[in-house]
Amino acid sequence: MAETAIQIDRPGEACGVFGIYAPDGDAARLTYFGMFALQHRGQESAGIAVADDFHVTVVKDLGLVAQVFDEPTLAGLDGRIAVGHTRYSTTGSSSWENSQPVYRQVVGSNGIALAHNGNLTNTRRLAEEIGKLFATTDSELMTEAIAIAVRSGLTLEKAALEALPRFEGAFSLAIMDQETLVAVRDPHGFRPLCLGRLDESWIVASETAALDIIGAAFVRELEPGEMLVIDDAGVRSHQPFEPAPRRLCVFEFVYFARPDSVLYGRNVHAARRRMGYRLAEQAPVAADVVVPVPESGIPAAQGFAAASGIPYADGLVKNRYVGRTFIQPAQAMRDQGIRMKLNPIPEELDGRRVVLIDDSIVRGSTTRRLVELVRDAGAAEIHLRISSPPYRWPCFYGMDTGDRSTLLAAERTVAEIADYLGVDSLAYLELPGLLEATGVEGEGFCTACLSGTYPTDVTDAGDKYVLERA
Ligand code: SF4
Repeated sequence: MAETAIQIDRPGEACGVFGIYAPDGDAARLTYFGMFALQHRGQESAGIAVADDFHVTVVKDLGLVAQVFDEPTLAGLDGRIAVGHTRYSTTGSSSWENSQPVYRQVVGSNGIALAHNGNLTNTRRLAEEIGKLFATTDSELMTEAIAIAVRSGLTLEKAALEALPRFEGAFSLAIMDQETLVAVRDPHGFRPLCLGRLDESWIVASETAALDIIGAAFVRELEPGEMLVIDDAGVRSHQPFEPAPRRLCVFEFVYFARPDSVLYGRNVHAARRRMGYRLAEQAPVAADVVVPVPESGIPAAQGFAAASGIPYADGLVKNRYVGRTFIQPAQAMRDQGIRMKLNPIPEELDGRRVVLIDDSIVRGSTTRRLVELVRDAGAAEIHLRISSPPYRWPCFYGMDTGDRSTLLAAERTVAEIADYLGVDSLAYLELPGLLEATGVEGEGFCTACLSGTYPTDVTDAGDKYVLERA
């Protein structure tokens, strides 16, 4: 997840997925490095499944990648196929039991392991169909559905083809057994997933940055609705779903993805700069300095400064070394940590008219405290500019935003929000400007939390704890 105390005004992220088919071995170590590049997508738990000729072994625990794995642990994880996962909980609570990869034994010592980014929208129905089987997450249900098909005698490839059409919603998956790596992107492609190549190895990862970190070449993004099978025979592509319009989460561009990643062929950092540029054109203001909320507001602030001619300044310093692990995403914790995470530099703020730039506001309580901090540091005026539209509707596709009543903008006008936050003015980037700034042509995005238009039926979606309560 992305948030503890200071980052709670943004949606929680929804996991990083990594998979590798490495004929020369050392799959777990490469997975470990790849997961570092996906740490921003989830900090609650980390895990690696690896297959040698005899077993699938899973090591996972609560904590960051660097906390869960050490050299002796990695040295003991020998094998050619591996799947890794960094988790933020979007279905099920943050517990060891819910960490991933999920493992299910199928025959003898053979088993399958699955890593999931996203959220199913038919979790309750799927649980009724296949039996809940003590599952507390949608990811466990998917693993069980595939394991049932494998137990009936199918290969992992055929089992996945049989089970996948029963899943609805958002899922980018890496699945493995002792012989095969399978990668899947749901029909709308809500979450990213890309394919890479390193010598004889094939890699799948949530973001291209995970390929960069291990020196792998980017091959291509998986198509929405595509299933890739990688084994000794090479790479095969299937389309097990009915075709559907592509709907990548627009918040991957706004906030979730690493700035050095590439989505839809567009660099994320450059897109964020364009968002700031557009915002300055759309909502100009007379001011002395443009200050980002670090770090996610930095590229948009650079763009705003470039477009407006107002000087850019680092008026807030982020403490990068405050750990996020083991801090539960509960309101009590959220409200007190801001000074641990951000500190103002009065010399940059005192007596100045400040344009404060952030990428999004979800709940608003932290932003309000941040505005107080900037005011206390001497800012003469605070003009808040947000490089995405108001976040008004809950996400059912893998972002933990809570229910609608917790969303600051759900029932408030922009003027009411400005009043609540205590700023002198407030403007959000409008949706057409946001979409244009991505540089992606045509309709390619889910914007449901901004527009209220959901690409799929979400009436059966349930909430985060749907299985634990059942
Ligand atoms: S509802 Fe919002 S956060 Fe969720 S997938 Fe759609 S755009 Fe992304």
